[in-house]
Amino acid sequence: MNGQEQEQEHDIIVDIPAAGEAEAALPRRGFPNDVNELYPHEQAGRHLDTLLTDLGERRLYDAASQCNRCGYCENVCPTYMLTGRETLSSRGRNQFVRLLVEGRAKDPEAAREALNTCMLCGACTSSCYAKVPTPDIVLEGRRALNGYGDNFFARAAINTLLNAPAIFGFWLKLAYLVKKTGLPRLAAKMGLYDFLGMPGLADAEGAVDKVPLRFAAETLRADEELRAVHGKPVNWAYFVPCGPNLIYTEVSEATVRVLKARFGPGVFVDNACCGLMANNYGRLEEAREFARKNIVRFEELRAAHGDFKVIADCSSCAAFMKSYEQLFTADAEWRTRAKAFADAVCDILEFLPPEKAGVSDPEALKKAGKVTYHDSCRACHGQGIRQEPREVLRKLAGKAYRELPESDWCCGGAGAYAFTEPELSAKVLDRKLRNIASVQADTVIVGGTSCLSQINAGLKTAYPSARAVHYSVFVDELTRKK
Ligand code: SF4
Ligand code: SF4
Repeated sequence: MNGQEQEQEHDIIVDIPAAGEAEAALPRRGFPNDVNELYPHEQAGRHLDTLLTDLGERRLYDAASQCNRCGYCENVCPTYMLTGRETLSSRGRNQFVRLLVEGRAKDPEAAREALNTCMLCGACTSSCYAKVPTPDIVLEGRRALNGYGDNFFARAAINTLLNAPAIFGFWLKLAYLVKKTGLPRLAAKMGLYDFLGMPGLADAEGAVDKVPLRFAAETLRADEELRAVHGKPVNWAYFVPCGPNLIYTEVSEATVRVLKARFGPGVFVDNACCGLMANNYGRLEEAREFARKNIVRFEELRAAHGDFKVIADCSSCAAFMKSYEQLFTADAEWRTRAKAFADAVCDILEFLPPEKAGVSDPEALKKAGKVTYHDSCRACHGQGIRQEPREVLRKLAGKAYRELPESDWCCGGAGAYAFTEPELSAKVLDRKLRNIASVQADTVIVGGTSCLSQINAGLKTAYPSARAVHYSVFVDELTRKK
């Protein structure tokens, strides 16, 4: 993009008032930090009351205003680096939200595009000196625009998962059975999804190879060892995120085996969804309700089993649960309870010290080939986890381990991003695949289930000799006694 184009692009978002208009352009409702007030169609409670930032608790407007537009983060923002568009950078997005709150956004459609294309990866926050929480600011902007992902189907899925999880499970199993017939693949080949205006569904259908007819939670509830500790002290409780529960059940099985073998008896939380999907798709009240269910369950277990860590094996869910307090900043009682829960949450990536890694089986190590590690965004940017899994992997893989260039570059999975923004997602993924190929890796270790499906989908066509494997599965495969 040349300088003139840059300037035009910038002009879309910088609505600087002309001389004499400055006063009229000032916010009209006193201090402009309440998006509920500014957008009357919104329901009460649809927005966060405050954001918990590294510089303290801030209203949305103050948090967005902490961005001084230095541009330092642009070198790490995938959507900016791949498009060169200022509006698709973190600084552009923060400014859009400020203008939205001030009621001065000239073009809400441009704002919608800018906010909807953010992958919420958090790379910008990691590189920002002021630690501006751009992903949270973007989510608030989406909620203010009333609609990101907030459609009939998303609402129905979230409400069923919240209020009738058994019915949700029934429908999912029915969908799995239909998938096994091969009909969805046929529909994709015939271009039916394109015809219906939902091309992303074809990718979604193809992203998962095999699907379980028994969910992980069902297996865990029947696990005699997990039930046997009833009422006794434990030092871990396993929280099953939706990915390992409903799709990648082998991840959940591996995590529990790894925990039992190294930390002794533990319990199954028998939890609800963490609420991340509701949080990211415009349903904040439902996200709070999911959180309350999990907090209550945690408190019951604490009363029965004493002090323990809540272990989750999807970094997106672990990072979101660590931020539960932010959902309740306007409610003193729930805020305290949410903080106690969040303090107990631990990603499996950070729970295992190298001295407990175990000893690698030579055959399994040979099968793994060259091993590398992809930093899932919600592990490295969302929770600051970088060294802990590397130490374990270096110990287990030895000389077969190699560092991945740009390991914290997003894979483009980002929840449903690969389906909602397929073109950008494919470009982001392409860079990840090139980096994997550059170290000739055979096994790519990941900590998030979205990364698992996205990277494996890319490897299948671009680099079929390699595979992505979840951290727990890798540790379990290498150290399990046959
Ligand atoms: S988000 Fe931070 S690094 Fe990026 S432009 Fe704003 S202040 Fe600078
Ligand atoms: S969260 Fe990621 S995609 Fe969004 S602005 Fe920040 S770096 Fe860019």
